[in-house]
Amino acid sequence: MAEAKAVSLPEPLTIETWAAQQLEQLTGKHQMRHLHETVPLEGVLVHHQGKELINFSGNDYLGLSRHPDVVNAAVEALYAYGAGAGASRLVTGNHPIYSELEQQLARLRGTEAALVFASGYHANIGVIPALMGRNDLILLDKLVHACILDGARLSGATIMRFNHNDVAHVRQLLEKTRSHHGRCLLVTDAVFSMDGDLAPVEELSALCRAHDAWLMTDDAHGLGLCADDLDGKAHLVDVQMGTLSKVAGSFGGYVCAKRDVINLIANTARSFMFSTALPPAVVAASVKSLDIIEFDRDWRLRPLDMARHFSNRLGLATAQSPIVPIVVGKSDVALYAARTLMQQGFLVTPIRPPTVPEGSARLRVTFSALHKMDQVDLLALTIHSQPWFRECVLSA
Ligand SMILES: *Cc1c(COP(=O)(O)O)cnc(C)c1O
Repeated sequence: MAEAKAVSLPEPLTIETWAAQQLEQLTGKHQMRHLHETVPLEGVLVHHQGKELINFSGNDYLGLSRHPDVVNAAVEALYAYGAGAGASRLVTGNHPIYSELEQQLARLRGTEAALVFASGYHANIGVIPALMGRNDLILLDKLVHACILDGARLSGATIMRFNHNDVAHVRQLLEKTRSHHGRCLLVTDAVFSMDGDLAPVEELSALCRAHDAWLMTDDAHGLGLCADDLDGKAHLVDVQMGTLSKVAGSFGGYVCAKRDVINLIANTARSFMFSTALPPAVVAASVKSLDIIEFDRDWRLRPLDMARHFSNRLGLATAQSPIVPIVVGKSDVALYAARTLMQQGFLVTPIRPPTVPEGSARLRVTFSALHKMDQVDLLALTIHSQPWFRECVLSA
């Protein structure tokens, strides 16, 4: 009997070896992320990496996550209805408090109807494929949030990216390609999450109308914070998406549109149909938050006030939203800048690719109604004295 010939097979690549190699690459590119624990303390103070810091990186712009009325609403609903919804809304998870929230959203946003999703991410990856398919065209700003791109990809439609806020580029793409496709949807952030600037909604809306295209905005960072536009410019926008996880300090995503559009989305958006309903207590918190947002206009406009003050102190372009980016370019510079600020008592997290384009790593400074003006001044003063800041202003 012939001896079996010994074949030397290559070492199998184990999943952990592969993972370790990938992590090494990320570290080499200064793109490694860490899950640092952050514990909220009083107001805007947090405990983070062993220090007490003033948080300038959160999205809880109005401090509503800890507002006593919001917390009480959640606690009452928690005791009354329990910790979880127990099923998807199309099965038995549709507690009446959902339609209360949806009516409130539709009224505030100036539309006929609204639908609440488990999160903003769920909303975008559900809504876009519910409206668009293979033969259709989706136009996206180059800087839209990652979950808009994911939703567009899931739809199977042709995707074209236009230069950031470049209306002429949109016109050119529509004129050249609109006729080759069935339906056409343009999607943009209303407030850009990493840049803090606003989309030219009027111009985009006019172009969409002229070219038989629909307009969808993602107002995750808006909700009345940037001007008196709590209604999200409903007369110009066909589909308004947003989140309850940021300005409202609670959790969940939503979409507002005409009733038939909402009914269709509820029947076809897979992330809605096949995911469990939000816990009723979370929905109760959102209802209370929206009450506060609607009626306390001064509180609502405070974060923008501080952002403007801050941007002016640093000689940056005047802020259009509570988000002020300080673009430093390289990821390692952003990491270094954040570290020096942390040593001085400020939490400003660095934002690196792939969250932002290559070469545009930045500090993203956000303002809350809970910040005190002297905290804002102190941060501006501290940043102003940093060598990396002078360098990035010189190169801008
Ligand atoms: C945060 C964010 C989302 C996702 O919302 P979540 O409720 O956090 O899932 C969607 N779009 C934009 C622009 C965002 O900033």
